[in-house]
Amino acid sequence: MSVFVKETPIMAQYGKIKAQYPDCLVFFRLGDFYELFDDDAKIASQVLQIVLTARHKNSSTPIPMCGVPAHASDAYIAKLVKNGYKVAICEQLEDEDFKDTKGPIHRDVVRVITPGTLTEDTLLEAKENNFLLSLVRLDAKSTMYVLAYVDISTGDFFLESHPVSELEEALYALNPKEVLISEPLWKSDSIPFLLKSWKHAVTILPESRFEVEGCEYRLSTFFQVESTQGLGSFSKAEICASGALVDYVILTQKRQALKLNHPKHHRQDDLMRLDAFTRKNLEIFETFSGPNRYTLACMMDRTVTAFGARLLNYRLQHPTQNLEILNKRLDSVAYFLKYDENRKGIQSLLKNIPDLERISTRLVNRRGHPKEWLSLRQGLGVLPHLRCFLEECPEEILPLIPHLTHYTDFHGALCSAFQEEGGNEGGWIHPQYNRELEALHHVHQGATQILEALQRRYIEVTGINSLKIKYNKIIGHYIEVPVHATSKMPFEFTLKQTLTTGARYTTGELHEIAEQLETAAQKAQILEEEILNQFSKDLSEIHETLKQACEFLGILDVSVGLAELAFQHHYTRPYLDSSTEFQIEGGRHPVIEWVFFNQNQKKFIANSCELTKEQPLWMMTGPNMAGKSTFLRQNALIAFMAHVGSFVPAKSVRMGCIDRIFTRVGANDDLARGHSTFMVEMLETACILNQATQKSFVILDEVGRGTSTRDGLALAWACVEYMVKHLKCRTLFSTHYHELSELNYLPELRFFTFKITQWNEQIVFFHEITEGVSDQSYGIHVARIAGIPEPIISRAQNLLNQFPEQALFIKNGLPE
Ligand code: ADP
Repeated sequence: MSVFVKETPIMAQYGKIKAQYPDCLVFFRLGDFYELFDDDAKIASQVLQIVLTARHKNSSTPIPMCGVPAHASDAYIAKLVKNGYKVAICEQLEDEDFKDTKGPIHRDVVRVITPGTLTEDTLLEAKENNFLLSLVRLDAKSTMYVLAYVDISTGDFFLESHPVSELEEALYALNPKEVLISEPLWKSDSIPFLLKSWKHAVTILPESRFEVEGCEYRLSTFFQVESTQGLGSFSKAEICASGALVDYVILTQKRQALKLNHPKHHRQDDLMRLDAFTRKNLEIFETFSGPNRYTLACMMDRTVTAFGARLLNYRLQHPTQNLEILNKRLDSVAYFLKYDENRKGIQSLLKNIPDLERISTRLVNRRGHPKEWLSLRQGLGVLPHLRCFLEECPEEILPLIPHLTHYTDFHGALCSAFQEEGGNEGGWIHPQYNRELEALHHVHQGATQILEALQRRYIEVTGINSLKIKYNKIIGHYIEVPVHATSKMPFEFTLKQTLTTGARYTTGELHEIAEQLETAAQKAQILEEEILNQFSKDLSEIHETLKQACEFLGILDVSVGLAELAFQHHYTRPYLDSSTEFQIEGGRHPVIEWVFFNQNQKKFIANSCELTKEQPLWMMTGPNMAGKSTFLRQNALIAFMAHVGSFVPAKSVRMGCIDRIFTRVGANDDLARGHSTFMVEMLETACILNQATQKSFVILDEVGRGTSTRDGLALAWACVEYMVKHLKCRTLFSTHYHELSELNYLPELRFFTFKITQWNEQIVFFHEITEGVSDQSYGIHVARIAGIPEPIISRAQNLLNQFPEQALFIKNGLPE
């Protein structure tokens, strides 16, 4: 029979807290568990695949409920956050035993975990920055936007400004895990579509959080400066974006103070630009089938440290056209490619360096687990050993050298203070490290010995061999005997607790020693905490320098990793200058070659490409499957890799720096945006035609496919003319319109096709380019290989033979 139950005090407390965090899943601490109720429970049980039960099951109003053990909650929280949920951790803030008021013990939310505010190692992606970003429009009429972003796991805090046309590109490059935006801006039409469907979390905040006065106040109090002028020169919009960001960090971190670096303008000069579409199209971070290991980023990543992986990621997201920077990076790769032993030695040492950047940030913020001090010690211990591999080191790595010996004293202090074996009850500090701790340790040891002696004596007195002196957190020390022996217990033993398996007793003597022991343990724990706090303080003194060390170690790791990549795959150094040449001898597609290599497949065929000032456009014709797309992309990828500062898959490469890579691939559906295929194609082509400069590199794959043949041909024709006459950018153009060979009156064009041969009705692709125009399309052969039934193939062959030359323009009906 179901009964109606009145709301219990605990549920009333829960209700109040939940009302303050409506957009979060509230993890409500009840003893050793975090419980979730109502809709939160339904969501969590589904996402986490845990059992959904109910509180007050038999009442008329059962409350859906599920729970996770507190000690194992990290993995559950991680899963929820990965799925885009926010989690509010509501803790018990009073000890049940010391509570003096009536009603449930005091509980409150101590932290809100959102995708953009993670600090825990278990929740973070080691190889990526975890940016929380806030977006503000310069002013109501402006098309400029300010982006403030922070990674609270490292403390990095930056500002950038972009026109609306470049917002998508900037968001892609930063890949923030959470975006903060004001309600009115979110509702306005000026926000790009991308943000509306942003793959990570978007948090919409009331406009008041972005108001300039409040933001000024929050920033100056957070950074403890008189006014925001003390932080640097910032525009109003920048103050609003940063203020809202800091406010959100404070709001989610609650009482736990957090150190962030002062916001800095992130320099955008000299970047080589790639729009969001090009990033996707070149499959740099994701393949067309989603995240996957066959991306350029995965293939290039031979780093062995987390900060190295993050730096490589950053460089891939921000390629540059600054020759000085690129040459320095390439010099480092060349150096480590040449000195094999050094490369191997350095990699094996770097492997032992944990994520010093995030660990030290957590420890400075008093969030680290004590065992992270041991990791820090281990990492710092490796640094001096790197010195012997960096005797003559490349210029880019030079600033690392002083860091290698800079932390010796701190490392020494960690060595003398910390012991390997710790536990939840403390015990991370060597007793010998501190006199007082040592004394307490002696008291502890003495009392433990007395307890052992006491146990022996009690066994003798009672004659019960299984008698034991034990300890638990709730009742402290006690004497336990099995149930059958309870009758033998003398009356001086005071009964504390009866269990089904036995009984627990105490004595005056035990009480006294136990108190000594517990006081010593408590004091030792407090003392340990003080020592750990002192270490946190000392660490905060060197934290800034240590972060710099991580930056240089990251550079070392990336250089050595790129050298290893170049070594394994026989890459070459690209020579970059300020010309508009593009000469690639024997170029290969880095990812396809790597896939072939991993799968022991056929060899990848190298092809050269030469675009010059006089002849900047190559027109590629050839049947499907010949290798056109591969060729186009491989050249764009080689250009991209060169601008990251990596060696490249080719025999030799010389190219003038590129300001922007554009790619356009025909007939690529983008229906989600509500545009027809043709419209998308034209929008993107328009973007190229309007924005490409002489320094740009463009690949156009099958433009004009999304419309009728005549329109498509005419448009492709006009585009090519315009590009070579006006834009003069380096361009690779692939097409299946053989008619475009008529464009040979333009001296700026060269035509290329792929070697193919027919053998026993089969068509053999050599994937080797050759100057000229493809004579036929071989579409029917490709259809046969693909398994189209034979009768259809012969009918098609028949039709083809009957088509007149201008069959492409036939509109109505086909000959029987
Ligand atoms: P197209 O764009 O002409 O239809 P693709 O570039 O898609 O052709 O290439 C078709 C297939 O041929 C690809 O799957 C790739 O594996 C293979 N291929 C292309 N270029 C080469 C090459 N240079 N060496 C070896 N295999 C290649």
